[in-house]
Amino acid sequence: MKFKRVLLKISGEALMGSGAYGISTDVVRYVAQEVQVLRTLRIELALVIGAGNIFRGVAGAASGMDRSSADNMGMLATVMNSLAVQDGLQTLGIPTRVMSAIAMHNVCEPYERLRALEHLENNRVVIFAAGTGNPYFTTDTAAVLRALEIKADVIMKATRVDGVYDRDPEQDENAVRFTTLTYKTVLREDLRVMDAAGISLARDNGLPTLVFNMTVPGNIVRAVQGEDVGTLITN
Ligand code: UDP
Repeated sequence: MKFKRVLLKISGEALMGSGAYGISTDVVRYVAQEVQVLRTLRIELALVIGAGNIFRGVAGAASGMDRSSADNMGMLATVMNSLAVQDGLQTLGIPTRVMSAIAMHNVCEPYERLRALEHLENNRVVIFAAGTGNPYFTTDTAAVLRALEIKADVIMKATRVDGVYDRDPEQDENAVRFTTLTYKTVLREDLRVMDAAGISLARDNGLPTLVFNMTVPGNIVRAVQGEDVGTLITN
C-alpha cells in the first residue's frame, strides 16, 4: 500500500450529484461503498467535506452579509454534509465519528486531535466537520490542517476530472494530464488545485496532495495502492 493513513477531501458540490442544491442520497451511498472497499485494505481514513452544495460564505458576503457570519453558516453547512455521510457509512456498518471544530455536543464530538487519532487507530472513520472553526478559511485549508495534525500520508482531493491538466479538459479535448507536479509549479502557474492558503500550508510542511477523479468506481483504492491515478503534487 502506498498510503496507510489518508485524508479524503470531498467538495460539497460533489455531494449534490446531478442536482442543483443539497445532498444526493445516491452520491452518499456511492461514497460509502467506495470507503467500504478501502476498509478491506485496512487504510486509516479521515474525511473533510465542503459545503458548496448548501452555502458558501463568499456568496453570503456578496449579497451583503457580514463575511464572518456568512462563513459561520458555511461551516455549519459542512456539519450537515458530514452527518449525511456519517449516516451513509454507518448504514453499511462502518463505525464513523463526526468531530466538529465548532462544539455542538448533542450532535457530534468536538474536535480533539488525540481523540481523533484514537478513533483512527481503532479503525473508525473520522469526519472532520466545521472546517477550521474560523471564518475566512475554506475546507481545503481545513483538510490540509487536519491532515497535518493526524500525520496523514497524503491528502486526496476528490474531483470530477482525472487530475490536474495543462488546460481545462472539459473545454479542450487536447488537454494533457500531469502525472506529477511540484507545489512550486502549482503556485507559479496558478493551477487551481485548491485555494492558495491550503497549497502553501501543504507545501511548507511537505504534505503530498493527490488530485483524482472519485466518480470512477475503484479509483480511491487504485490511488492508495499507488497506481497512476490522478496527479500527485509534492515538493
Ligand atoms: N468555511 C469557513 N472556515 C473554514 C472552512 C469553511 O468559514 O475553515 C466556510 C466558508 O464560508 C466556505 C464554506 O464554509 O465557503 C464551505 O466550505 P468550502 O467553500 O470550502 O466548501 P467546498 O467548496 O469544498 O464545497
